[in-house]
Amino acid sequence: MTVTISRTFSVNPHVTSLIDGESVPLRASGEDIAVVNPTNETQISQLREADADEVDAAVRSSRRAFDSGPWPRMDITERKDILYSIRDHLRKNAEELAYLECLNTGLPLHSVRGHVQRMARNFEFFAEVASTVHGETYTQTAGYLTYVTREPKGVAGCIAPWNAPLALASMRVATCIPWGNTCVLKPSEYTPLSMRRMVEIFHEAGLPPGVVNLVNGRGAVTGNALVAHPGIDMVGFTGGTVTGRAIAAAAGRNLKPVALELGGKSANIIFDTADVERALDGALAGIFGNNGQQCLAGSRILVQRGIADALIERFVQRARKIRLGDPMLPTTEIGPLAFRQHMERVLSYVEVAQADGATLLTGGRRSAQHETGFFIEPTAVLAPHNDSRVCQEEIFGPFATFLVFDTLDEAIQIANSSKFGLVTYVWSEDLSTVMRCSREIRAGTVWVNTPMMRELRAPFGGYKESGIGRDGPQASLEFFTELKATIIPIDPVKMHRYGAS
Ligand code: NDP
Repeated sequence: MTVTISRTFSVNPHVTSLIDGESVPLRASGEDIAVVNPTNETQISQLREADADEVDAAVRSSRRAFDSGPWPRMDITERKDILYSIRDHLRKNAEELAYLECLNTGLPLHSVRGHVQRMARNFEFFAEVASTVHGETYTQTAGYLTYVTREPKGVAGCIAPWNAPLALASMRVATCIPWGNTCVLKPSEYTPLSMRRMVEIFHEAGLPPGVVNLVNGRGAVTGNALVAHPGIDMVGFTGGTVTGRAIAAAAGRNLKPVALELGGKSANIIFDTADVERALDGALAGIFGNNGQQCLAGSRILVQRGIADALIERFVQRARKIRLGDPMLPTTEIGPLAFRQHMERVLSYVEVAQADGATLLTGGRRSAQHETGFFIEPTAVLAPHNDSRVCQEEIFGPFATFLVFDTLDEAIQIANSSKFGLVTYVWSEDLSTVMRCSREIRAGTVWVNTPMMRELRAPFGGYKESGIGRDGPQASLEFFTELKATIIPIDPVKMHRYGAS
């Protein structure tokens, strides 16, 4: 049974950075950014932006923690104990984290509670993986032993978006530090509250100072300073494709590797061989889960012609009955969008759709039931063809775009006609249909007859403009560690003695 939040928690009126395990004192001057509750549009806190000097202090601290601190040198059992302690402390403080996330992002409480449990698992899982890392040895060359070890790569800049800060920023950190790396985390300035508490909890759990530093501020100021800093060894970024491109270019100038988890416009394909009841539930969950603000949303719903009219009609009926409201209430299915400009951008796609000849099926406006808050009605449009902007651009809200197709080949071709390639959902009981989709659709994940299911053991990430690299045990190991070959002769080797005779 879902229960309502048992109590409220205090919100710090000022959010500053957290460096070396300490809250950075409020400087006499600096840029202040309002932190707003999207449910009632009131200011709930104020963020003091980290400028380039503060970012420099954070990077230096992480550098010290890496170059001479205990974290990379620690026995793995000790490091693992601390990561398990982080897991336990996150669980112990789950309600506070869920409260702050819900208050600041508008994500429904039931989703956010799941995210907190998932973040705890992320630390547990990657602690396990790091404790089983092994090397290679080669003895084939006579007289020599060569062994290959993996070492932590250094200091990471980790940058996270606003749509699900706990789930996404925790993934950035949990894939980075278990190998012995340190990092500086920059969340979105729109949603800093849960992030600030999360990093405090890391320290309460025993993480040595400097292993995770937090800087707060806008991408153009704080994010830029972080990515351009010469003390950073790599960048892990989750966010939009446009920003990802800028970050890759900036990091490339310093020859720093990047891992990018970017946007999507994922196809959710419903064949006439599907269990239609389940496919309908899955289509609704795929686009309206997490307020529609998720990279892996099934936002292009492709329906085979024979079942299209009936399925779309039922989708619309269900969409109209979705419970929109206060995200703190356990009964709420969709909360407000995260901030005003985002809501306006999502709504602007109604005109874009109509200009392209699409039909508005439902929604498309601010909710009349709510006097305040960035609520929009769950929206669906039927697009005339896949070239429409609503089929090609990520809208990132509770906004479904339907397309009708005739054949399996056509469905695959439509799914692949996108600059993105993050995930695909396939609904069919026919094995050959499923296998063709799995083989031919160019996306990092194919979910068959299921809404989103994250398997931590499998890599997650995108093809094409949905990203570079993957999160996952093998992929994160490769990104966040360096390989070192040590070559040792067993007997003294014969050498030419330059200048000896
Ligand atoms: P953005 O790309 O706008 O921002 C992401 C982060 O990057 C923010 O912290 C942002 O700060 C920062 N940033 C912006 N510009 C720069 C810069 N020049 N240098 C360094 N940092 C910068 O994404 P959103 O926050 O709008 O998040 C939504 C996007 O994230 C969607 O496209 C979504 O698909 C994608 N996403 C991808 C996921 C995946 O796993 N593939 C998961 C979840 C989301 P600021 O807030 O100030 O702009």
